Amino acid sequence: AKQQGQRLLRFFSPEMTQRARERLHLEAELRRAITHDELFLVYQPQVNLTTSKLVGMEALVRWRHPERGLIPPNAFIPLAEESGLVVSLGDWVLRAACRQLRAWLDAGLTPPRTAINISAAQLSEDQFVGRIAEQLRLYVLSPQSIEVELTETCVMVDSERSFQSLAELHALGVHLSIDDFGTGYSSLAYLQQIAVNKLKIDLSFVRDVTTNPNNAAIVRAIIALGKSLDLEIIAEGVESPEQADHLRSLGCDSIQGYLISRPLPADEMAAWLRQWPASSEQ
Ligand code: C2E
Ligand code: CA
Ligand code: CA
Ligand code: CA
Repeated sequence: AKQQGQRLLRFFSPEMTQRARERLHLEAELRRAITHDELFLVYQPQVNLTTSKLVGMEALVRWRHPERGLIPPNAFIPLAEESGLVVSLGDWVLRAACRQLRAWLDAGLTPPRTAINISAAQLSEDQFVGRIAEQLRLYVLSPQSIEVELTETCVMVDSERSFQSLAELHALGVHLSIDDFGTGYSSLAYLQQIAVNKLKIDLSFVRDVTTNPNNAAIVRAIIALGKSLDLEIIAEGVESPEQADHLRSLGCDSIQGYLISRPLPADEMAAWLRQWPASSEQ
């Protein structure tokens, strides 16, 4: 066993250091990306299922790497979370979204409420709500113009500090949405303790809602729970009219997904806002 262990060690060691080196490298590159404007935001509209009115949009981060090209968030957000870089990355996202909203307003557009994804490390920061308030002030935006998207797991971490921040956020007037609802490990008790506005049904339940009775049952249960707590329900990852019809029949309020639009860069989103027939609900 010892011999085998040594063999394994010899076999894995160089590869592991290689991996560790790559990670460090990527981390340094990500640090640079944040300060050198290699990041940008794309926006995905959210539409009411009965009125077709625009009810919101979600800002999603992208990294245009000078050599590697476009890197999706799943390839760098986990690294950013592990290294703590997600706090400055999240700051960048918040600023960029607020700056964009101000630019759209100045151009005479009426952008809907914009959801921003927040990581656990950001929520535990002492300055979390202060930073948001500061950006809203700087770009002269109403607190209702943004929404914070948190996962269940994120809400459960460091609960006292987080609950305090969420209460302050609510007092400020910023909406709160629970992302990927039903996929995290959590008790539902937090729904009574914090002021939630919206539940977002994860795309894993939406994907085969028309064919998988178990997923349909989960979606139905989430909608029933949400309704009884007077929350808005949105489904993400809606790709087909069949899914939309099914979700409508289950009482879902609104949808986000390729059926309506892919996430769009700011200029394309502006064009989309101009042409969408049912204008935004404010
Ligand atoms: P998420 O918040 O659950 O975002 C939804 C993901 O589903 C997005 O992937 C979006 O592009 C994708 N999507 C939208 N419509 C459809 C559809 O109809 N079908 C399918 N199959 N997919 C659809 P994306 O943009 O790659 O983001 C992945 C994850 O990265 C996000 O999941 C979120 O957890 C994280 N993320 C993205 N932007 C940020 C950010 O600014 N900050 C933080 N902390 N995390 C972010
Ligand atoms: Ca999200
Ligand atoms: Ca989600
Ligand atoms: Ca998701």
